[in-house]
Amino acid sequence: MSHAVSRLRAERLARCVKPFVNRGSRAPRCPGCRVIFDYCLCKYRPTVDALAAVCLIMHDVEPLKPSNTGWLIADILPDTQAFIWSRTEVDPQLLALLDDPQWQPYIVFPGEFVAPERVVTHVEPQQGKRPLFILLDATWTEARKMFRKSPYLARFPVLSLASDQLSRYKLRRSKRDDHFCTAEVAALCLELAGDQQAAAVLDTWLDVFTGHYLAAKFQLPLDEQDDVHQRLHSLLS
Ligand SMILES: [Zn+2]
Repeated sequence: MSHAVSRLRAERLARCVKPFVNRGSRAPRCPGCRVIFDYCLCKYRPTVDALAAVCLIMHDVEPLKPSNTGWLIADILPDTQAFIWSRTEVDPQLLALLDDPQWQPYIVFPGEFVAPERVVTHVEPQQGKRPLFILLDATWTEARKMFRKSPYLARFPVLSLASDQLSRYKLRRSKRDDHFCTAEVAALCLELAGDQQAAAVLDTWLDVFTGHYLAAKFQLPLDEQDDVHQRLHSLLS
């Protein structure tokens, strides 16, 4: 299987001069899920339909990180697109996507850093268009730079996640910190677009991935009948 992010990873690896060494275990990783084979989660991988889609603009090293969660979005949403960001050039396919009239692009970014007239907190679908959430998949420092230095994004509204939505989400997922990974941000956007099923599957898929990833990292036994696996199963049945 391959998807937008796995293809970027393969292209990016092909451009590496030195072999990329993951920290931690040297055991071979499954190319489908990036976890060592004993803990592979590919057999659980769901796909869902959604009205909205996600376009990932990734910092150069993100596709190489086995913990990158943009990958999980591409796992479940077949329409996911992914591009490597560059300060000096823009992929013509990205520009074509942004010009495609079937999409209604939103750039997802905190509103406090943007002129207020550009900021929206709701998704209002226009007739015949599908929301396209542009996510900058990078560390916060990198994402700010990418946002500033991408003039082709300046014409789109900035979707800023509202603090009450973030607090409800934190409560529901028993999150203790304010850091939201890329998959979580995508799930929040899907909720705003009315794609509740896709949002729930993505959140649960993130939990399944995290369970397998951490079990592999610490060489712990894996309980494939636990709550998280059962929740994913029941969401899809
Ligand atoms: Zn796998």
